[in-house]
Amino acid sequence: MAGLYLHIPFCTRKCHYCNFYSLASAKYKPELVQALLKEIELQKNYFQNEKLESIYFGGGTPSLLNEQELNLIFEKINNTFSIDKQAEITFEANPNDLNKEYLRLLQKTPINRLSIGVQSFHDNELIYLNRLHNAEEAKSAIKRAQDFGFFALNLDLIYGIPIASSKSWQNNLEAFKALQIDHLSAYNLTREENTAYDILIKKGKYAAPNDVQGEAHFKQLLAFAKENNLEQYEISNFAFNQKYAVHNTNYWRRKKYLGIGPSAHSFNLLSRSWNIAQLKPYIEAINQNQLPNESERLSKADEWNETLMTGLRTKWGVDIDYLKQNFDADWVETFQHQTQKYIENGQLLLNKSVYQLSEKGLFFADGIASEFFRVNTTKSNE
Ligand code: SF4
Repeated sequence: MAGLYLHIPFCTRKCHYCNFYSLASAKYKPELVQALLKEIELQKNYFQNEKLESIYFGGGTPSLLNEQELNLIFEKINNTFSIDKQAEITFEANPNDLNKEYLRLLQKTPINRLSIGVQSFHDNELIYLNRLHNAEEAKSAIKRAQDFGFFALNLDLIYGIPIASSKSWQNNLEAFKALQIDHLSAYNLTREENTAYDILIKKGKYAAPNDVQGEAHFKQLLAFAKENNLEQYEISNFAFNQKYAVHNTNYWRRKKYLGIGPSAHSFNLLSRSWNIAQLKPYIEAINQNQLPNESERLSKADEWNETLMTGLRTKWGVDIDYLKQNFDADWVETFQHQTQKYIENGQLLLNKSVYQLSEKGLFFADGIASEFFRVNTTKSNE
């Protein structure tokens, strides 16, 4: 089964740290919605009757879509693709959009999971990040969503904020627990080029994130998870009672997905493609029945690197038997040789045939995985 992603590239205002493609003006929302409908039509054969087991509205801010726009999008998806009855349908929402009227509207759609961008339950941290809501609004929005029957919820939190302390981070984790939510995504604050955060650091107004604080908060997060039986199933994702996010898990397990909207990415098992990250050129191309994307066919080395990168970030790890079945024997042999160093220093574990990062290795997952990468010898653009 496969997944569908829709990118809604508008936000009421930009958060300082954000490098997702989104504009702080929804002026062209009607044109964008029409283009999304048309892109779905242009991509109607993408799944070749394979059923959708997840649909994900991300952005940007999907909760800026109104009733009519949501209805049009669902009608198009329903008429174009085949959707599994149990499909997870996730909708990203900002707390300040989740008023009673909007929740009533969402209730009438097939959306069955909300991902709420809280980031922190401390007003000073929310101001620092340039978020629109305050802590009280976040808590009441979550409770309201639960009152409306949205029990499948994810909460986004950010750690490693330079003005945060270990106490304020612990308070955020305790607030998450008190709200009885079954899924948490927790991300380390990073400095992305050309974001407002990056510019503020360059001007000396903000401190740069530091690894020591980030690692300390991460360890605190892991200890909290352990104490509360909150399972870490991906480096930044945690769930109670195996309530894993279907859509995101399928990314990590390298299943097929289609991304609709500017900057959205797709993967058809053989190649990856990405739509242009500019609203007007995106709309213009779609209006001329053209898909504004570029794509790249994956080489065997790409496949290897992705398998290692995504596998090591998850609790499922990397199975040596899978590598042996799918890749050159000498690649596997080199990998086994390279892993020795990490097993000895305690960053990597070998359980039967599965390699997994230990707690000590998890914070350095990307760096460790990249040590095992193969260099591309054949690359082709489509
Ligand atoms: S709401 Fe989300 S997408 Fe929009 S600017 Fe903030 S972090 Fe970025």
